[in-house]
Amino acid sequence: MIKRDTPIRFLKGIGEARAEILISLGLNTAEDLLYFFPRGYENRGDISTIENAPEGELCSLMLTIESPPNERVSKNGLTYTKSIATDGTGSIELVFFNQRWITKALSVGRVFRVYGRITHGLFGSTMSSPIIEAVYEGKQLQSIIPVYPLSKGLTQKIISDTVRQALPLCDEIENTLPEDITDRFGLLEKSAALRYMHNPSDTETLEKARRTIAFEELLIYRLALSRMKEQSIDFKAPQMNYKGTGVAKFFEELPFSLTTAQERVIKEIFADLCTDKPMMRLVQGDVGSGKTILAAAAIFFTVKNGLQAAMMAPTEILANQHYKTLDRLLSPFGIKVALLTSGVKQKEKEQIKQCLEDGSIQVAVGTHALIQGSVVYKSLGLAVTDEQHRFGVIQRASLVEKGEAEELRAHTLVMSATPIPRTLSLILYGDLEVSVLDVLPPGRQRIETYTVSGDYRDRIYEFIRKQIAMGYQAYIICPLVEENEELPRKAVEAYAETLKTSVFSDITVGFIHGRLSAKAKEKEMHDFVTGVSKVLVSTTVVEVGVDVPNATVMLIENAECFGLSQLHQLRGRIGRGKAKSYCVLMSDSKSAKSKERLEIMAETNDGFAIAEADLKLRGPGDFFGERQSGEISFKCADIADTTLIADTGEALKMLADLPNNGESGLMRAVDKFFENTRDGKIFN
Ligand code: ADP
Ligand code: MG
Repeated sequence: MIKRDTPIRFLKGIGEARAEILISLGLNTAEDLLYFFPRGYENRGDISTIENAPEGELCSLMLTIESPPNERVSKNGLTYTKSIATDGTGSIELVFFNQRWITKALSVGRVFRVYGRITHGLFGSTMSSPIIEAVYEGKQLQSIIPVYPLSKGLTQKIISDTVRQALPLCDEIENTLPEDITDRFGLLEKSAALRYMHNPSDTETLEKARRTIAFEELLIYRLALSRMKEQSIDFKAPQMNYKGTGVAKFFEELPFSLTTAQERVIKEIFADLCTDKPMMRLVQGDVGSGKTILAAAAIFFTVKNGLQAAMMAPTEILANQHYKTLDRLLSPFGIKVALLTSGVKQKEKEQIKQCLEDGSIQVAVGTHALIQGSVVYKSLGLAVTDEQHRFGVIQRASLVEKGEAEELRAHTLVMSATPIPRTLSLILYGDLEVSVLDVLPPGRQRIETYTVSGDYRDRIYEFIRKQIAMGYQAYIICPLVEENEELPRKAVEAYAETLKTSVFSDITVGFIHGRLSAKAKEKEMHDFVTGVSKVLVSTTVVEVGVDVPNATVMLIENAECFGLSQLHQLRGRIGRGKAKSYCVLMSDSKSAKSKERLEIMAETNDGFAIAEADLKLRGPGDFFGERQSGEISFKCADIADTTLIADTGEALKMLADLPNNGESGLMRAVDKFFENTRDGKIFN
């Protein structure tokens, strides 16, 4: 008997090796399998005909084998099995590679449901490597087939066979959503929803199941957020004041005067800091709107109030840069700033930690290493997180908990350059007050943006060369570090190497990507910042926050691979100085949709407009681009789904009026959510 906590190893067909793979996917017990949702579904239930099936598309056919299969072994040892089958509207040749067992199965007169891509050629129709399922009396063929995310060593069959063993457990899963809510929104019971996710009877039920799971996910997330907000009311934060801070002097020393928006937001921040309630403020401002200086001012204010401050950045590069900026701005006032990243040597790290504990260093800047466990602050008054969308909400909270005493919390300032539509920011940042920086510093020029095909590459290189001759620098962005078999994307190192040995042999070309060591990253970045290297070939590691005002050109290869918001972030790396800047989006994609998306980039520089357009064009699913780079990873919920947002909002209100909702499975689920997020299972 399989139980919920039966280790994955004890399921049929799972030996040690497979168990290990499954465990690496987070599947430890039989119950975990229930939550391992398909990444998509194949609809094999719609049967087409050979005659009508559209060229090149996936389809299902109901075929009778006409002639005995013909097996052939090629020179390189590959076995081909070919067989002719019919469905009455025509004949089709089925071709299989290295599947010798199939010869036996394909006996004349047998009927199969065959699923694959059809091609209609000069010599008739063919299907290569289709999936075949025997049809016989008394056998019910599933029409919608789940397709699971795979990893090396697994096949769809292994996963679905394993999941099937766990499915009876669905009945034991307690319902999370109260009946009033499932009734009101036409949702399923949890047990049914889970079962249908893996074994859907029809598309309609599948959609209902998906909606139920998504609804629950988003509702739990929103409940968790509001609980965090409620809890923060119970906490006090150190109350600061202006007296003796000399903050006017700080502003006088700046090389520029603040924009009206910066002034307004700084006032809002200072006002928050001067109360004894923990500040929970999000500053949203487009790239280049000047958020860093706000953080610096708030940190100055905090330190002059006798407290410490921490600033957390999502990448090492950015942490380094912030460290330099803050150090430059604050050290003239006798404020000590330290950098804490994984790149810092162990011994030095220990020393810094010591100084943070005894208060002799007032400001810590770093990556998530900052919040990991062992750092103790003497009196943390302010926690700033930059480019927030990279951090989980709960991580944000865990830095805050490092405040002075248990019942005293640090103020929180979150800065985000992801211009997300307001509906979304209400959900994602539902626990925060929002300030918007809607004015750019003066003198900024519009970044000229062009979308071109690969044919233009040489001309663009020539253009880059001219810009460099004028004393400027250039970024070239490639999507991935390693050559990917699937898509011939440009790989950073190989790309840089090619440039160095050909067109840019007389120019210093650097490269940077996430897999370089911290030290190598720092060096490459340093070379670029100081103008030693003129061209920087990079992945999206430069996407957030990097500030090199002398860079005036950005060439983005395979631009269609990026989300629009991501392209906007990337483009924000140029146009930071006085000189005119140019962004070239290179793409050979033939898809009309990609072209339309890239055109938006050429049309506008306004991040919010781009975000709205992106949301509309992409539709559900991938607003934040690749899932792992998103703020949160929901399994089913799509935060761009406005109906889901509205419905869960209504459900929140209903819950407030339901008696005893604290006793319900839903509240237990919220508890569990907190537990899991703290273990880092949900946020990465
Ligand atoms: P972001 O909002 O993208 O984080 P930064 O804080 O990096 O932007 O600022 C971008 C650039 O603009 C920096 O070089 C910064 O020194 C400069 N800057 C910020 N505020 C002003 C201002 N009021 N006037 C002129 N330049 C400014
Ligand atoms: Mg920034």
